[in-house]
Amino acid sequence: MKKHIRITIAVAFALVCVVGMGTVDVRAKTSFVTIGTGDITGVYYPTGGAIAKIVNQKRNEYGIRCAVESTRGSVFNVNAVMAGDLEFGVVQSDRQYQAIEGLAEWEVKGPQKNLRAVFSIHPESVTLVAAVDAGINDIMDLQGKRVNIGNPGSGQRQNSIDALGAAGLNFETDMRAEQIRAAEAPGLLQDGYIDAFFYTVGHPNGAIKEATAGARRVKFVTITGIDGLLAKYPYYAKSAVPVKLYPGAQNDRDVATFGVKATLVTNANVPPKVVYAVTKEVFENFESFKTLHPAYALLTKKAMMDGLSAPIHAGAMKYYKEAGLK
Ligand code: GLU
Repeated sequence: MKKHIRITIAVAFALVCVVGMGTVDVRAKTSFVTIGTGDITGVYYPTGGAIAKIVNQKRNEYGIRCAVESTRGSVFNVNAVMAGDLEFGVVQSDRQYQAIEGLAEWEVKGPQKNLRAVFSIHPESVTLVAAVDAGINDIMDLQGKRVNIGNPGSGQRQNSIDALGAAGLNFETDMRAEQIRAAEAPGLLQDGYIDAFFYTVGHPNGAIKEATAGARRVKFVTITGIDGLLAKYPYYAKSAVPVKLYPGAQNDRDVATFGVKATLVTNANVPPKVVYAVTKEVFENFESFKTLHPAYALLTKKAMMDGLSAPIHAGAMKYYKEAGLK
């Protein structure tokens, strides 16, 4: 078995019990798989948990034990799946596209040919959160401010740079840009160390609840002037932040921005039977899966096939064909 398929075959044949009636030899063969997610206050982490929960219900049938890992985000997850350190990763649809095409963070390494799509999940919006006292009413007002654009390894970092670029702003020269993890941004905003932060994420989520529930008044800022961006990049679409999910935010109507989709990816080397089991269990338990996070409210099986630019993994395709979805 290749080194980068970190699936441990645990053979438990030590269990030889001598019971009055004779010798019993039990052999248990289990594949351990891990899903890379994001910060624990985002939506990827509970999404990994929801998938693992559904798959682990059939542990005895499939012999798969699914675990979840909190990570630095989309770009980290693509690289860890490619390196064989993780079997699955939750990844923004724009990052999936860039990885398979050899763009952005993969420009030097080239196309990630072994990247495979499994399905897509919830929509994510490029969300700009600002302190009301910082006087930020428009993305242009970020000039001269202290702004978290996202950590290297995250999906949002490039989205922030693209949004700023569309407004004619350069993160290196026009502001004091921080590159920290999204989970830390709400505390830093509340404590006055930053004026605003970007987070590409599904709604609602714990990080933005934390940011909008503190003593410092906080609001969402519209990201305008993105028509050029939408025309240039096939993976961006118009979207909005539903403000009713955050009663503490100082907004009275939904905030226009752009967005992507969260997707599940894997490596071509992960055995088809593993990817088949994960796909089948999520689709066959779709109604209960949908109840596991409020960001899945509008999810449909059909929409879960959108936003996939890498080839669909053979194991997932086997299920889609069987189910008449492809
Ligand atoms: N979109 C973020 C990223 O790719 C993660 C969002 C989340 O954890 O829900 O890094």
